[in-house]
Amino acid sequence: MADSTRRYKNRCSFCGRSEDEVALLITGMNGFICNDCAKQAYDIVQETMDKEKKAKSLNLDELPKPQAIKAFLDQYVIGQDDAKRYLSVSVYNHYKRLLQKDNGDDVEIEKSNIIMVGSTGTGKTLLARTIAKLLNVPFTIVDATVLTEAGYVGEDIESILTRLLQVADYNVAEAERGIVFIDEIDKIARKGDNPSITRDVSGEGVQQGLLKLLEGSVVNVPPQGGRKHPEQKMIPVNTKNILFICGGAFDGIEKKIAQRLNAHVVGYNAVRQAAHIDKNNLMQYIAPQDLKSFGLIPEIIGRLPVLTYLNPLDRTALRAILTEPKNSIIKQYVKLFEMDNVKLSFDDEVYEYVVDKAIEYKLGARGLRSIVETIMMDAMFEIPSGHADHFVVTLEYAKEQLEKANIARLQNA
Ligand code: ADP
Repeated sequence: MADSTRRYKNRCSFCGRSEDEVALLITGMNGFICNDCAKQAYDIVQETMDKEKKAKSLNLDELPKPQAIKAFLDQYVIGQDDAKRYLSVSVYNHYKRLLQKDNGDDVEIEKSNIIMVGSTGTGKTLLARTIAKLLNVPFTIVDATVLTEAGYVGEDIESILTRLLQVADYNVAEAERGIVFIDEIDKIARKGDNPSITRDVSGEGVQQGLLKLLEGSVVNVPPQGGRKHPEQKMIPVNTKNILFICGGAFDGIEKKIAQRLNAHVVGYNAVRQAAHIDKNNLMQYIAPQDLKSFGLIPEIIGRLPVLTYLNPLDRTALRAILTEPKNSIIKQYVKLFEMDNVKLSFDDEVYEYVVDKAIEYKLGARGLRSIVETIMMDAMFEIPSGHADHFVVTLEYAKEQLEKANIARLQNA
């Protein structure tokens, strides 16, 4: 008998539970759905729709032109004109490629990934961070040093794309047209030609993996990054339209450039050319074969067709970096004091002195901040509790403060 009563109860057409087993049963034309199944159905719909989320539309007329992009970069980054021009053009072309329509002419604009070479502290990351401020597509900076071949301690190459997915709020279509800046690309150079050295898990193996991303393919990306777990659901991402910008210091590459330049010095014309070589800045002569001599595999170099360089920072550049950028170090300290209603100013000789010290300790642009920080430490400690409404940093004060501090500590900065 119990069975026949069961048959007359309304049941969820999805899970089969009866109306007294669920909180709510919604009636349809030919069936029922319970609250739990309705919720689950909603989640499935949401997930599917998310996958199909369309990328926001771009309009070429509204996007900044290369000259405008460079002018923007000029506000924050001193010098490095060559790199700025290359970057501006690449970003603009990236937009164009995203907007290209298939009009049957068989011309397809392919992407031109970029590689920027320049000593540490010359502004590579700063350029990347600055350009990110005006981009209309997702952008992320990743560090190549953490990458290793699958199965070794470190991160899988695919985790590069996890970061892009995260900044795109997991909107795959949006991420698929983003820009990735891979910093310290030189750290995955082949460690040497000697095959007897221990396995090169963070070198050539990573380059091979990276190749897949650079050339454009569908890559399964772990949504939370790190290592792939079998139980983790992967998100397929097509890298065909993702622009990769790589940066690296390539320490010692000048030697390779010099070797190449010397090797070509044959004959009268070559001698004349050699006379024009600026030996203080060999980086400007960098060519793809130097990257190969350094340990990048030719396939990777081929996938980074735009090669540009950053100049070493000279005195004038360092001096300008102190005060000129929109976000300059000195402007930042002035703002800090302003918040305590104190007008901060520096005598001009102080700037020269800071630059001298940065050069003397071989600290480059990165050192400027630590030197100014050391000079300002006591004042920053005392001024907020005092009654002064202005503070002038004189050369004498700057010298005194810096000499008092432990210089060795600065040099390790
Ligand atoms: P890199 O990535 O080349 O090693 P960064 O871009 O991180 O160097 O530069 C380190 C710091 O030095 C920056 O945060 C910035 O304060 C300063 N700096 C370096 N180069 C420049 C530059 N060309 N213009 C302005 N500031 C610079």
